[in-house]
Formats: sequence, C-alpha cells, structure tokens
Amino acid sequence: MKKAKRLVAIFSAFVFMLSAFAVSAFAVTVRVGPGWLVDNGGHMDWTGGTRYQADFDFAVRVWNNHRFVIRRVTFWTSADVQVFDWFDDHPRSYTAFVDLTRRLIGNGGINTGRMGFNTFQMDRLSPSPLQRRRMVALHELGHTLGLADNLGIQNVMNPADTTVNVLSPSDRASADAAWQRFR
Ligand SMILES: [Zn+2]
Repeated sequence: MKKAKRLVAIFSAFVFMLSAFAVSAFAVTVRVGPGWLVDNGGHMDWTGGTRYQADFDFAVRVWNNHRFVIRRVTFWTSADVQVFDWFDDHPRSYTAFVDLTRRLIGNGGINTGRMGFNTFQMDRLSPSPLQRRRMVALHELGHTLGLADNLGIQNVMNPADTTVNVLSPSDRASADAAWQRFR
C-alpha cells in the first residue's frame, strides 16, 4: 500500500512537470496579416536582388521547407515582389520593409509588392551578424507570405532584433493559417 502510494505521488509529479513544459513550449499563437504576395498559383515569384542574397536565399529555403513555393522569376512567370536595397542612415530608420501592395493583374494573379533592405542598418547588425541578417530576411519573407508580427522571443515573426533562424510552432501555425487563404 505504501509503495503504491509513493508511485502515485511520483506519477502525478511527472504529469505536473509535463504540463508545465507543455505550456511553455507549445503555447501557439496564430497571427496573420491583411495582405500577402503569393499569387493564385500558390507561388511567390521574386525578381531583383540584394547585397544580402545569401541570407535571402537561406530564408527562402526555410520557408520552402515548410510548405511554400518561393522562387526566382523566369521568362515564363511573373514577379510578385521586387527585391532591392536602399540606404538610410537615420539612427531609427527601418532595417527592412515589405510593401504588400497587391494588384491582381489578369488570371495569373500577378502582385506588385516590394521588399527592401536598408544597407546602413543591415551592415551594422551585431553581434552574430549572419544570424541577424538571416532573421531579417525570414521575417520580411514571412510578411510576403501573409504572416503578421507575432510577439514571442522564439518567433521569426517577432519584430525585435533577434538571432532566431528556425520557424517556431507559432510561425508554422501562422503559416498554415495564411496558406488557407490563398491556396
Ligand atoms: Zn514585421
């Protein structure tokens, strides 16, 4: 009897620990924005380019490993977003931005969005500049896919300057919710 009682106590402590872990690790928040640059075919075709192309390409791979089809425009496709760099040395200037202007042209659903990187701020990111540049690219691409800012230090969609380089459960759930709107 005594032994069984102790087993129960140990078991309930274990369950309690599990539930505490569940709250911290799996509290998923879904945040989608009002716009996106994915076309009617489910693609996000980009044109132009950036000094941070390697970081942009990294971010494309991460999102495409989830469920999206982000690809460079070809002769046979139409661009949904123009990628470019600009320079603004104001101390509080944006590091990057996305213009989600979406003008659907014809049956193909062509968007005319823009995605810009401020070379002044991008070149100053530190420490861990590689991780921070990748995070910026992941974040802005997330907006083009229809995700909104999402507080939570583990989220790529957190607007703060972080070094997050993997999609959190909230990022993934938000991406799935966004996908439902234009698939
Ligand atoms: Zn944002």
